[in-house]
Amino acid sequence: MSYARFSETSDVYVLATFSGSLQCCGCQISESAGSEHFDSTAKMLEHLGEHALGGDRVSDDCLSRLSRDRQNNDDYIAEQAAGLGLSQ
Ligand SMILES: [Zn+2]
Repeated sequence: MSYARFSETSDVYVLATFSGSLQCCGCQISESAGSEHFDSTAKMLEHLGEHALGGDRVSDDCLSRLSRDRQNNDDYIAEQAAGLGLSQ
């Protein structure tokens, strides 16, 4: 599920992955391969704060939807990290 895509109101591309992380795609402030992964909503929000401080546009819509889904996403990430999502 994507929370923000590159647009006139967003300089970040944020999504929740099926493998259990929150991803900042094509991250302009990443020191790695251009995408950053975070294992909690808190860390993603902190990261988006760094974008904003650097002058990047982070939409209110993105932030409010991340906050709304915070519990679900954090629970899902924890489940994936525990390996519960791998059993079939
Ligand atoms: Zn980023």
